[in-house]
Amino acid sequence: MLASKMLLSTLKDVPQEAKIPSHILLLRSGMIKQEVSGVFLYMPLGLRVLKKIENIIREEMDNSGSLEILCSAIQPKELWEESGRWQKYGPELMRFKDRHEREFCLGPTHEEVFTSVVRDLVKSSKSLPLNIYQIQTKYRDELRPRFGLMRSREFIMKDAYSFDKDEAGLDASYKVMYDTYSKIFTRFGLNFRAVLADTGAIGGNSSHQFMALSEVGESDIAYCTSCGYAADLEKAESKCDIYEIGEEKNIEEIYTPNMKTIEEVSSYLKISPKKLAKTIIYYENINKEYVAVVVRGDREINEIKVINALNSTENDLRLATDEEIYKLGSIHGFCGPLNLNIKILVDEEITLTKNIIVGSNKKDYHLANVMYGRDFKGEVSCFRKAEADDLCPICGKPLKLERGIEVGQIFKLQTKYSKAMNCTYTNEENKPVPMVMGCYGIGVSRTLASIIEQNHDDSGIIWPLNVAPYHAVIVPINYKDEEQKALANKIYEQLKANHVEVILDDRDAKAGFKFKDWELIGIPYMIICGRNSKDNIVEFKIRKDVLNKVELDASKAIDEIIKAVKEIK
Ligand code: ATP
Ligand code: MG
Repeated sequence: MLASKMLLSTLKDVPQEAKIPSHILLLRSGMIKQEVSGVFLYMPLGLRVLKKIENIIREEMDNSGSLEILCSAIQPKELWEESGRWQKYGPELMRFKDRHEREFCLGPTHEEVFTSVVRDLVKSSKSLPLNIYQIQTKYRDELRPRFGLMRSREFIMKDAYSFDKDEAGLDASYKVMYDTYSKIFTRFGLNFRAVLADTGAIGGNSSHQFMALSEVGESDIAYCTSCGYAADLEKAESKCDIYEIGEEKNIEEIYTPNMKTIEEVSSYLKISPKKLAKTIIYYENINKEYVAVVVRGDREINEIKVINALNSTENDLRLATDEEIYKLGSIHGFCGPLNLNIKILVDEEITLTKNIIVGSNKKDYHLANVMYGRDFKGEVSCFRKAEADDLCPICGKPLKLERGIEVGQIFKLQTKYSKAMNCTYTNEENKPVPMVMGCYGIGVSRTLASIIEQNHDDSGIIWPLNVAPYHAVIVPINYKDEEQKALANKIYEQLKANHVEVILDDRDAKAGFKFKDWELIGIPYMIICGRNSKDNIVEFKIRKDVLNKVELDASKAIDEIIKAVKEIK
């Protein structure tokens, strides 16, 4: 490809809206352009990378035995009513009406559509197990679209759905997808970790997320270097930390004037926050009830676990207002679980600690020596967030925390959709049995951004060879110089003849400007034709190794590139 014909549009400056390397570099390299917030278009170079990423995913999905189809983004309301998600999905679902007032949505995911396809086509258990996938555009009206392709409102996903006769079948299908995802992310050269995950709005009872490790990731991961346990922080467990077990004492009211926070009370009383309990009151919108959650003073509440315990959704849980708390007979800053006439969720650590200090529901007072069981009761489970150095729930060694980008997630859906939507097969007794389902997503465009997060430097992107928009670029210092032009053209033809995707920079521009462009764009190999062109000598640069430039015979550079391209996996 000739650089003069490539619609190149690199930017020198960092666009104001871009905050993380992948967003900055995708915009600066001209690979994507923003249409409106959270909506992007792919320019030629970006599209080439996207297609290569899609093809690697496609190859591995095909190898796993999954069948590719392509669905529309448009989905009728009726399908979503069958699964019950038309009501439950909330404002992320982009809904619209046609001219006849019929309602639709733009698919954020395709469980309903795939379930309806299989229910219509498959009747016999002979067709099972079945795994079908697509690579297709999804729509989610994200509250805060941000970080470019990481969290957009329109994005490309690979979504697959498996259909099995029974649980054992699902386990096997799930394992195949787990292994396939591991192969896919390994082929992208990503440093990733598969972690246990919450199942969220999709449902089901078992799930893993594939996390590309990165500081810019929006997910926190707890992991154990000793036994390999790893979980999204929303899901992570840890062994209870027992702070005080001494003798039981009687309740005492203590004066804590204006002390509303854990820090204020603990420093005033000169005691560890671990002796205090935090009581936070929420309003839950599905059951329309107030709920108090009690965790130890040094802990954070894990709202996902609260949502799951209440069978609610993220959109249906919010903090109660000061006014609401007052109406419940308490007061903001002094809430406590005693004499509070609402549902109480208690973190298990609280039940194992003696003589805790809690709010008294009365201004300026706390209660000391409170005991779970003796003085109050509630629904006990793990409602705290795991923290670094908490003990691993499996082996008891200290946990570590790190950040990751969720590039994929797999779920065991069981019969959630097949039951609701009547997707059954006929068993030996001629009875209809709901199929047992799994679903498996990869954020294709998010993966593209994640590869950049893990492969860049101050000059720009460093594409791995197998997803680079082009493998090599030839830069004549001066294309008007006949010798340089002749050598550059010769190398260009030879590389093309050997299946190397190559660019010839025929632009009439300063050499430094051209180098900067290709370093920003991240082309893996660069051949520079300069003064020694008449002797067939070029400069050869490998993008990964940006400081190293060697002079060598053109044929050597050509051979090295051809060899590397042949070895692409
Ligand atoms: P998140 O928690 O990041 O919002 P999710 O868990 O809602 O994502 P899934 O429903 O599991 O997402 O979708 C499958 C994959 O699609 C995710 O693992 C992620 O890689 C990708 N994805 C989800 N939402 C977006 C988005 N707004 N922009 C880009 N990719 C996305
Ligand atoms: Mg997910």
